[in-house]
Amino acid sequence: MTLFRFTSARFDQASKDWKANKIRMGQMYYYKCEAHLKSGEPCTKKASSDQKYQFLPKHYCAQHGLAALRLEAQNIGAASD
Ligand SMILES: [Zn+2]
Repeated sequence: MTLFRFTSARFDQASKDWKANKIRMGQMYYYKCEAHLKSGEPCTKKASSDQKYQFLPKHYCAQHGLAALRLEAQNIGAASD
């Protein structure tokens, strides 16, 4: 039964880790926006599922995703000059 207990504990931890960056809405889980507000508080919105934000290293809501995209574009622009 050692194997079962080990597996169960591993599952609980994995489950915890999996939920850590997600918001539950009814039966569904969504990624949490990983951006912070100007006040320093973490953003509480669910991350956008829009394809144009998929390549960003973090999950962002539509508002923060757009800001991150602009920043990304600036960085790419600066690097290629
Ligand atoms: Zn956000």
